[in-house]
Amino acid sequence: MAALREIAYYKDRAREDSRRVMAYRKAADVIEALDEQSRDRHGRAGSWQSLPGIGPKTAKVIAQALAGQVPDTLLELRGAAEDLGGGDVRAALRGDLHCHSDWSDGSAPIEEMMTTAAALGHEYCALTDHSPRLTIANGLSAERLRRQLDVIDELREKVRPLRILTGIEVDILEDGTLDQDPELLERLDIVVASVHSKLAMDEPSMTRRMVRAVADARVNVLGHCTGRLVTGNRGLRPESTFDAEKVFTACRDNDTAVEINSRPERRDPPTRLLALALEIGCDFAIDTDAHAPGQLDFLGYGAQRALDAGVPVDRIVNSWAADKLVAWAHG
Ligand SMILES: [Zn+2]
Ligand SMILES: [Zn+2]
Repeated sequence: MAALREIAYYKDRAREDSRRVMAYRKAADVIEALDEQSRDRHGRAGSWQSLPGIGPKTAKVIAQALAGQVPDTLLELRGAAEDLGGGDVRAALRGDLHCHSDWSDGSAPIEEMMTTAAALGHEYCALTDHSPRLTIANGLSAERLRRQLDVIDELREKVRPLRILTGIEVDILEDGTLDQDPELLERLDIVVASVHSKLAMDEPSMTRRMVRAVADARVNVLGHCTGRLVTGNRGLRPESTFDAEKVFTACRDNDTAVEINSRPERRDPPTRLLALALEIGCDFAIDTDAHAPGQLDFLGYGAQRALDAGVPVDRIVNSWAADKLVAWAHG
């Protein structure tokens, strides 16, 4: 049921509560699972709401879509969709290096994330679900990650010409080591490393922790470096404190890109640190950190920040062709 999925897409893109938006995708699943006879029967009787997970709003969408109309809700959402910014920088981006599926704390299956990335015109998209210690986000054990790699292999043909890049958002542990088997990290196309625990540790310890992580040859991108939250329903969180000059210098010297995290509640790094990383000579990755399909379009927000900061496009690694990117990641 494409109309329901498109509605979910626009609602996620407009930053609505992703758990509520999931209801539209669940309703699509329910309708798609029906055989033709049951569909006809419910259509004639107008009894969509007798099905599990279908409420008055989704029932109306279903009825209008099956009558060959564009549902009112969808028309409204299409009309209200805003340009998310980024101009020429956004236009130069070929893909995304950070997103989540329902294998960890995302709200959609891998296939729906990747078909959405393909529909956005991405050449590639890295799936970077969380690592084991982040239990609150259902982080993947080594075994689950291996299974995910098989699932991705089975999906590849279906989403072409999009190239799915394998990946992980690996937790940077307190001592700066990484929360996943080294050989497994080695196998992945893209490794994003982020701090998710003990964000308030003292500056010298945090600096050591981050420098050790970004200097690891397996790490390609330093995710949301300060961990701050500036708005939104998760509340506010101050920046972690670390010696940014040391950390960014280590990023530059070890070919680790600094992430410009596009999520509106993160806007990480803050503007002054973005300027510092630029001055030091770092490369950047503009990532959505999408947890839902519609959030994959958040690239515009991050691209706008890069544009405002004057980041040259050739220093943004996800403006590169896939082969160059993967060669860089494993260089
Ligand atoms: Zn993260
Ligand atoms: Zn993430």
